[in-house]
Amino acid sequence: MNPDQISPLFENYQTFVKRVDSHITAVKRKFPNRIACKKGCDLCCKFLTLFPVEALTLAQAFAHLPKKIKAKVILKIETEKDVCPLLIDRACVLYPFRPIICRTHGYPVYMEKDRERLIDFCPRNFKGITSFPKETMLDIEQLNTLLAMINRQFTESLETDPPFLDRIPISEAIFILCS
Ligand code: SF4
Repeated sequence: MNPDQISPLFENYQTFVKRVDSHITAVKRKFPNRIACKKGCDLCCKFLTLFPVEALTLAQAFAHLPKKIKAKVILKIETEKDVCPLLIDRACVLYPFRPIICRTHGYPVYMEKDRERLIDFCPRNFKGITSFPKETMLDIEQLNTLLAMINRQFTESLETDPPFLDRIPISEAIFILCS
């Protein structure tokens, strides 16, 4: 698979990432001094499985990492099973390329269950906040549906044979473009 040929196929995903990032920036502005998320806080960095569009985004970026960092990631895959292998020295080595879930973790999301609205966010964030304006919350169902649609369009454009798995473990995702 030629990385240059597949680059244009990421356009929809990159637009989606920008929209999610804008939302998170707006939430940070709305709640200044109430966000504990920062470099060194890695509670959310668990082992992930990814849609192919996100797996290939990471694979492209991973290919450009220095050999020394790649070696640390490989060692992590071999020795620690539950944490994300991209978490090195308590920081993400592919932070600008991280998946959508990593961008939204810790911020208010909501879902409907039995006609009840459930709201979730990291308890380290938003201390003392008891309610959120609707525009500050992400509808997690809608987010997942949009990401699934973008992924479907991406995989259909790629036409790989055999097709990609629906979900790819992050420890395999980063090596997809390695020959
Ligand atoms: S990709 Fe980066 S931000 Fe996401 S879980 Fe892994 S280390 Fe954390």
